[in-house]
Order: sequence, then structure tokens, then C-alpha cells
Amino acid sequence: MNIILDVRNLSKSFHGLQAVDFVNFEVREGELLALIGPNGAGKSTCFNMLMGQLKPTTGEVFFQGENLVGKYPRQIWRKGVGRTFQITGTYSSMTVVENVQMALMSHRRRIFSIFPYAHKIYKEEAISYLDMVGLADQAERHCAILAYGDLKRLELAIALCHKPTLLLMDEPTAGMAPTERESVMQLTADIVKDQNISVLFTEHDMDVVFGHAHRILVLNRGKLIANGSVDEIRNNPLVQEVYLGGGNLFEVAS
Ligand code: ADP
Ligand code: MG
Repeated sequence: MNIILDVRNLSKSFHGLQAVDFVNFEVREGELLALIGPNGAGKSTCFNMLMGQLKPTTGEVFFQGENLVGKYPRQIWRKGVGRTFQITGTYSSMTVVENVQMALMSHRRRIFSIFPYAHKIYKEEAISYLDMVGLADQAERHCAILAYGDLKRLELAIALCHKPTLLLMDEPTAGMAPTERESVMQLTADIVKDQNISVLFTEHDMDVVFGHAHRILVLNRGKLIANGSVDEIRNNPLVQEVYLGGGNLFEVAS
């Protein structure tokens, strides 16, 4: 499988605290890759560096061969590194399908307000994205009244509009009930397969990680301590010890 993202010697220190400590990993084409680790391990800091929101102290991030370090978030996004954005207050007064239409227009650099047929254009296409995330039947509802899990699905549909090659999802299921978490992760896994995109995600729920990830990276105190398949990570004594303070990772998770 081709390498989409190649992260080399990535580190970030905050006033002497080594939040990310010379991390190396790759994301391959069509891969659903989990980044796990205890709170404060450096996962979000890593994500923020990949997205251009935080400048690394050291390192390179090659996306399809091009170094992203030093580029602005929007430039990185335009190159095909997507992320899920929370729907802001401004857009919550619009309907579900209008939010997706807006995203499609923004992707194609059209401006909503000056375009007379804005309500018609992209509607069919927008609905196809909603269909992809199981929200087509909610198309005409206002976002403000959507259930939390449905809002997360909408955020995913919007991220997909930009046709990312790589999608970064930092705690996509935070705040969800276990069944909803499972269903959003299953949906993400299906999308990875159908669209052949790569996803790098963080997740606390080990059942979800072991159930869906193709490969797992484990971060602890800024250091990457393991990188392997679900079985390799499950049986890695160092991971069990550091991540869960001993015991069997699988037994604890199930
Ligand atoms: P995780 O997402 O794995 O929970 P974070 O990347 O958020 O971990 O944090 C890693 C470490 O870096 C923590 O000790 C956190 O307090 C610290 N940290 C994160 N962001 C900042 C910041 N902007 N300034 C100072 N310290 C930070
Ligand atoms: Mg975090």
C-alpha cells in the first residue's frame, strides 16, 4: 500500500514540556489508523501539528511526498487533508442539507449569498453525501434540533464534501453513548473502504478501536511506544503496562 502521510521526527515542546517527543509513523492508502494513549499523551498536539494549527518544534510531515510543515491550515486542507469541524452557531439555523450545500459551494469557491439559485444547486449532490452518512431522511430539519450523534454524522458528511485523501478525526465519538459510538465508527470504516480514503483517529473506547482499526499507534508521554496490528497491540506487554497500568488490555476493554 502506498504511503499517504510520512511523519518524521515530529516533536513539540511547550515551555520545556515535551508534549510530542520525536514521533515517526506513516499512514497508508485506505487505512483506518488509530492513535491511542492516556490523557495528556500528546495525541491532540500531534493532530494540531499535522493540520498546521501548531508549528512543530522539530520534524517533517510529508503528505504525498510534500512537506506540510510551515503551511497554513487552509493550504493543508486544500491539498486534501480533511478534518471534522464542529458545526458553529451560525450554521445551526440552517437545514441539514443547506449545510452540506454550503460546504460544496465553499469547496468550489462559490459564494452562497450572491448566487441566485443557491438553494437549488448542489442539492442532489448534498443529499448523496447525507445518504452516505445515513442522514438523508433528516435533510430538511434544522441543525439546531439535531441529536448529538446526527450532528457528528453531518460534520462527517461536510468533511467528505472536500474529497479528502486523508481525514483526521480527533475524538470523533466524544460524548456519545456506546451504541452510537460503535455505529459512527462502523460508518467511518465503511466510508474508508468505499471511498478509499485514509483516516487517522483518536478514540478512548478500546472496543471501538479493536473492532475497527486496521492498525494502532500508541503514544505515551509524547513517545510512540507501539505501532502494530490489533493483535500485536492487544498482546504488547509495554502497552498493557503503560496504557492501562497492567492487566490484560483486551479483558479490560471487553
Ligand atoms: P492528548 O490529546 O493525548 O490528551 P494533548 O496533546 O492535549 O494530549 O496534551 C499533551 C501535553 O501537552 C499535556 O501535558 C498538555 O497539558 C500539554 N499541552 C497541550 N497543549 C498545550 C499548550 N497549548 N500549551 C502548553 N501545554 C500544552
Ligand atoms: Mg486530545
